[in-house]
Amino acid sequence: MAIATINPFTGRTEQEFEPHDEAEIERRIAAADAAFRTLRTTTFAQRADWMRTAADLLEEEVETLGRLITVEMGRPVAGARAEVLKCAKGLRYYAEHAEEFLAPEQLADPSVVGAAAAGTRYAPLGVVLAVMPWNYPLWQVLRFAGPALMAGNAGLLKHASNVPQAALYLHTLFTRAGFPEGAFSTLLIPAAGVERVLRDPRVKAATLTGSEPAGRSLAAIAGSEVKHVVLELGGSDPFVVMPSADVGRAVAVAVTARNQNNGQSCIAAKRFIVHTDVYDEFVRLFAERVAALRVGDPLDEVTEVGPLATESGRDELESQVADAVAKGATARIGGFVPDRDGWFYAPTVLEGVTAEMRLHLEEAFGPVATVYRVADRDEALRIANGTTFGLSSAVWTTDEAEQEWFIDNLDAGAVFVNGMTASYPELPFGGVKDSGLGRELAAAGIREFCNLKTVWRG
Ligand code: NAP
Repeated sequence: MAIATINPFTGRTEQEFEPHDEAEIERRIAAADAAFRTLRTTTFAQRADWMRTAADLLEEEVETLGRLITVEMGRPVAGARAEVLKCAKGLRYYAEHAEEFLAPEQLADPSVVGAAAAGTRYAPLGVVLAVMPWNYPLWQVLRFAGPALMAGNAGLLKHASNVPQAALYLHTLFTRAGFPEGAFSTLLIPAAGVERVLRDPRVKAATLTGSEPAGRSLAAIAGSEVKHVVLELGGSDPFVVMPSADVGRAVAVAVTARNQNNGQSCIAAKRFIVHTDVYDEFVRLFAERVAALRVGDPLDEVTEVGPLATESGRDELESQVADAVAKGATARIGGFVPDRDGWFYAPTVLEGVTAEMRLHLEEAFGPVATVYRVADRDEALRIANGTTFGLSSAVWTTDEAEQEWFIDNLDAGAVFVNGMTASYPELPFGGVKDSGLGRELAAAGIREFCNLKTVWRG
């Protein structure tokens, strides 16, 4: 794939970039390694100062950055600006809390291990490679970079090939804020160039947010090098609605949960599993609200759903829906490619999805909701847990015993009760099954790329 900005609303190539050659890759890895040696000697307070300056820059540049995101990957501009501000908040959070999350701990009674003193402390690992996706082109990167740099690591970014301008912005953000040259930099390389970087002995660990095949490939290479990885992969999150739920609220949230970011969110609710007692009301209201979404130019402030980020992504979604319809599913609303320029897909609600259909098991990365009618909570859980994914989940019920039962039994990295899955700096984020390994955000996120060092003194 060429490294280029191609505007999804027009299909026009705005700017193309030459990939870095071997000499430039070598220079950037060496600079990252040197920056790490400096960074590890700095204090939390110093790094926090720089981190807050990076947050200030994001806030000052929110207008330009919002437009940049929209032009590169099609997110409606109001959401793009919100992403920038969320990044600033995430960086400030780690500026504030990193030291406390990585504070040394002491055994209360060191004599049990025959020591005068014993405990643990966290040390940074070194240079970490971050392979990142286009769907939240700043947030996915910064939710890694904020904690990694605060811990004293250096970062090398291989961003998705369709968001090079976001990647280049991020290349300078941290040095502009005061971090040493090379503390965080971008490598303009294709996916095929990842292996060479990951096998470099100066690169100590890696994180990848993206699709399952990309994650498996990276993890296999890291495994052969015995390097730590964090994987944030795909999801097909269930959204379960039980009879006691406030159906009106559940529908309003369902519309956003499925169609945010033009339906291209890993933690979007994708499969709506609705108890038969409230199914007809839910689907009627859901289809009405989805039909009313304003689809159009993502730079227009009122647009709610823009084009998909890539033509291939739009074609993939079209073929998944065509497969389901050919096998008997029905589109209550949508189910087609609109007759207009840009990589649009009509917001869609599909009923009658069965196990033979691709959409039953695969992730739908666009504004397509599948709705299932279920007789009871056991059937709801069977469908909810019936994919290879396990990122997040949502359940709508006011029955407390039922809430507890779903929380205990849903195979997912998170359960949101009567609400929409979202990522927050304050809460750990990550999946189980084929949705990934490890956690980002909160205290767990910053500890992933640290050496938990045991210290024993006689
Ligand atoms: P993708 O094709 O896997 O790309 C993600 C990144 O991996 C890009 O930088 C890509 O580079 C690179 N890449 C692709 N194949 C690779 C390989 N074999 N080895 C090394 N690197 C490779 O995914 P995407 O289409 O950009 O993003 C959509 C997917 O990401 C969805 O499945 C979504 O659910 C998932 N996602 C997960 C989370 C989460 O937190 N769990 C968050 C966001 C998105 P190129 O662009 O150069 O190919």
